[in-house]
Amino acid sequence: MDKEVFRQFGYKFIDWVADYMTEVVKYPVMSQVKPGQIKERLPQQPPDKGEPIERIFDDFKEIIIPGITHWQHPCWFAYFPANNSPPSILGELLTAGLGVQCMIWQTSPVAAELEEVVLEWLRKMLGLPEGMAGVIQDTASTATLCALLTAREKATNFEANQRGLKKPLVVYASEEAHSSIEKGVKIAGYGKENLRLIPTDDAFAMIPEKLEEAVIVDKKRGLQPACVVATLGTTSSTAIDPLADIGKICHQHDLWLHVDAAFAGTAGILPEKKWMLEGAEYMDSFVFNPHKWMFTNFDCSAYFVKDPGALIRTFEIHPEYLKTGLDAQVKNFRDWGIQLGRRFRALKLWFVIRYYGMERLQEMIREHIRLAKLFKGWVENQENFELMAPVSLSLVCFRLNDGRDEEALDSLNRRLLESINQNGKIYLTHTTLRGKYTLRLAIGQRLTEERHVKEAWKLITSKAEEILKMPY
Ligand code: PLP
Repeated sequence: MDKEVFRQFGYKFIDWVADYMTEVVKYPVMSQVKPGQIKERLPQQPPDKGEPIERIFDDFKEIIIPGITHWQHPCWFAYFPANNSPPSILGELLTAGLGVQCMIWQTSPVAAELEEVVLEWLRKMLGLPEGMAGVIQDTASTATLCALLTAREKATNFEANQRGLKKPLVVYASEEAHSSIEKGVKIAGYGKENLRLIPTDDAFAMIPEKLEEAVIVDKKRGLQPACVVATLGTTSSTAIDPLADIGKICHQHDLWLHVDAAFAGTAGILPEKKWMLEGAEYMDSFVFNPHKWMFTNFDCSAYFVKDPGALIRTFEIHPEYLKTGLDAQVKNFRDWGIQLGRRFRALKLWFVIRYYGMERLQEMIREHIRLAKLFKGWVENQENFELMAPVSLSLVCFRLNDGRDEEALDSLNRRLLESINQNGKIYLTHTTLRGKYTLRLAIGQRLTEERHVKEAWKLITSKAEEILKMPY
């Protein structure tokens, strides 16, 4: 591509993105296309001859955009957010322009050193224990897999990498833990039958006594407990597992403690939420996602470990073609995770933290928490609505309940969710809590303001009114 054409379309694309950031509200939050509708519009065969960028851009607007679900819409209340922000987008643009692959220090020294420095900033921002070292992974799922693999090696004195697992090891997480733990347990060779899902209390947090009981029972049966995954901010209801009590049990039984704070970790930058991290001194590893609530483009997951030596020993490989004369002096992040090739992800994070600074980041997170409290109050005061879980951060779990039986309530709320999402004004998703169908309103999108939350509540209550009038 001619440099001038690149420049011309570069400006055009930035204009498009800048407009998109304000015009995103005009789109339905959830894409309205039907399955197969996009594929029908795409040619089956790849083009023989290249096409002008202008035509590709036209098709981007015509074909691609209708199939987009708009995660950056202020009425995004589904799942958890995957935020971007202007500084992050600009950082990503430069990363794309540089096109570096940062597998080892020498393949871009600044990528390794910036990653080290920015993750040290994050460690301090959250108040994680001094000495924990950070590395960027693509997702929390990958970070948790790294933790499970390192825990496996630690528990077998680094024998499993060499000889495979000779004896079952057991992993513990709460019944509310994310599915990535089960996935990691399967991939890391523990076996799903060696994952114990520990009961939770009324607030959906792990009950430490039940954890200890399970560990003791397993030991009596001749099994080897190896790892506990505690969650700060469960996916269904942002329940906070009691870290200090769990940590003491891990310490006593010599178990690896991994903490999954994928969404909630960002709230650790608030002094008033630091209680979540009490007991952090017991953690062997910790993950949270700046790509969820810290306004950094997907993907960017911050993984911290107490003992980088154990992590490196689990993953290191030394093929001749990757050796450099500086290996003894530098950090080669290729040995800090699964993949060899690595994106320059620290750049966008550096842009975000520098652009907003700690104070503005705290303000934004606090505002989301305030909005959730407001919404919680509306639910509590509305006839036929009920809260389904405590609101610990910015997620509200609720349902419509007019007193019909549980099965009918599940179906009522399923219909309510469908009708809320149908017109594309807002987007909510669901979960089940103790088997009950529950609506989740997750606040955390960067552009969400009080008026958007009010709009959501108005829509939810009016749809509820309509549905309650229908025969069932
Ligand atoms: N852990 C928790 C508690 C989550 O809520 C999620 C996703 O929402 C994950 C892990 C998985 O995150 P990722 O998509 O980064 O793997």
